Formats: sequence, structure tokens, C-alpha cells
Amino acid sequence: MGQWMELIRGTERCLWCDMFYEGNMGWGWVLGFSEHTHLCGQCENRLQRIKELSCLECGRPRLHLYGEEKVKQVEGVSENSTPFFQKKKLDHDSVCLDCERWQLVPPWDGVRFRHRALYVYDGFLQEVLARFKYREDVALAQLFGRDLRRLARRELGLFDFVVPIPLKGEREWERGFNQAEALAKGFPEVVPLLERVSMGEQKQSKRGREERIASLEGAFQLAELAGGGCLKGKRVLIVDDIYTTGATIRSAAGVLYAGGAAEVCAVTVARSVGKSSAGGQ
Ligand SMILES: [Zn+2]
Ligand SMILES: [Zn+2]
Repeated sequence: MGQWMELIRGTERCLWCDMFYEGNMGWGWVLGFSEHTHLCGQCENRLQRIKELSCLECGRPRLHLYGEEKVKQVEGVSENSTPFFQKKKLDHDSVCLDCERWQLVPPWDGVRFRHRALYVYDGFLQEVLARFKYREDVALAQLFGRDLRRLARRELGLFDFVVPIPLKGEREWERGFNQAEALAKGFPEVVPLLERVSMGEQKQSKRGREERIASLEGAFQLAELAGGGCLKGKRVLIVDDIYTTGATIRSAAGVLYAGGAAEVCAVTVARSVGKSSAGGQ
């Protein structure tokens, strides 16, 4: 209990600005009502947590919550300039046009794909993630790992396997570690079921559905340990740092579905807003 009390009341050092601040976890965090990031209040306030969704499938946030100016800064779009908002009422159960278009592309015509992110991807979060790309993964896991687990549990349920998006070979070598892997570390069910397919192998990939999936941004294949039908009927959660167009994560999910998974969902730290992905990158 003493350790818990320390966590709740202790002084902490902000992982972003290095300032000491009063630890503010509080009972709300212990009981699962609120989130904690190891950031001081000032830095925490700069993050735009996604609180309300306009699409329950891809987790597109309701833009009006984040202020037009801020969103314009992020992606160069405002709520009013996005086709989705012009054509559809902001109904809580709605699926965005992007997801509707994806439903025309196999395997998305037959399966669901739900994604949730912690924050809107803006300039500040871009800075934060960039800094931790080259630092030890412990800090990254401290910042976002716990909240990612809570988000997944609360919004998407329980999973049999948790799979980080693997990096392309050269990038992993450059960085020294995979951010998605660091973020997934805290999940007890983490298993590296996916591998990147090199460009050479990609050209020889089979035609049809698999080829279409492989032609999306970032191509994947099942790792050897995913053999033997271990995915059959399982729920799989993909973990990544950023959701930009969703094409990379959908590409990975497609491979997991092809391997027999019953449902594939995804969580990320940051989600871009306003970009359309269906049928392209
Ligand atoms: Zn700070
Ligand atoms: Zn959507």
C-alpha cells in the first residue's frame, strides 16, 4: 500500500520538460476513471485527448472538440471542409465515408476493423514521438503504454494476441528499437505475429486478395510462429504509434484476417485527422 500512496501523492519529474511537479495520479486513476501520463499539467494540457468520436469504426475524432484553428494547423482541414461532415449528420453510430469506401475493398467487405487512438496527432505530439524515437523505450511505455491498455480494454475488449506493427528493416536499424513494440510491451498477450515483406518478395506474392492487401502501404506476412492455425477464431489487437491514413494498419490486419483471425482491432497513440485512405495509401 505504501508504494501506491507514493505513486498517488509523490513528486514526479515531467518526461517532456524535466520540471518537477506534484504527482497527480489521484484515486480516479487508481480506480480507472482518469488517465496519467507522467507529464506535468502544462505539458499534459498540450495534448489533445480524443474524447468523442465521429466514426465508431476507425475512431475518427469529432473535430469541433479540438477547435478549428488547431485542426487547421494539424492537417489543413476544418470540420466544414471535410466531405464526411458535409454529407453526413454527426450521428454517434455513424461510420465515416472513409470506412464506407473501405467496405468495398476485400477483406473489409466481410469483416470489421475498429481503431482507437489516445490523442489527435498534432505538432506537439509529433515532437514528443520524434524525441522518443531515439531514446530508450522505457520512457515511451511510461508515457503511453498504460493508457493504451486502458483504452483497448475499455473501447475494444479483451484480446488473445497483441501484435506490434514491425518496422521496415532499415528503419529499425536506424532507430535501434521499434516504437510500436515498446508501446505493446505492457500488454501481457503480446506476440510478434507479423513480419515485413521485402520489396523483392512482394513482387512474387500471389495474385488476388493477397496481392491487393500487399499493394497497400507497408506489406506484411505472418511470422512462422503464427503457423499451425493459431489465429483461428482469435481476437487480435494491433498496436502502433501513429495512425495516418490507416492503410498500414489495415494492411497488417488484412494479413491477420487471412490467417484466420476472428476479429482484428487496433490502438495507436496518435491519430491524424482529415485524411482519406480508402483505396489508396
Ligand atoms: Zn512538463
Ligand atoms: Zn471511419
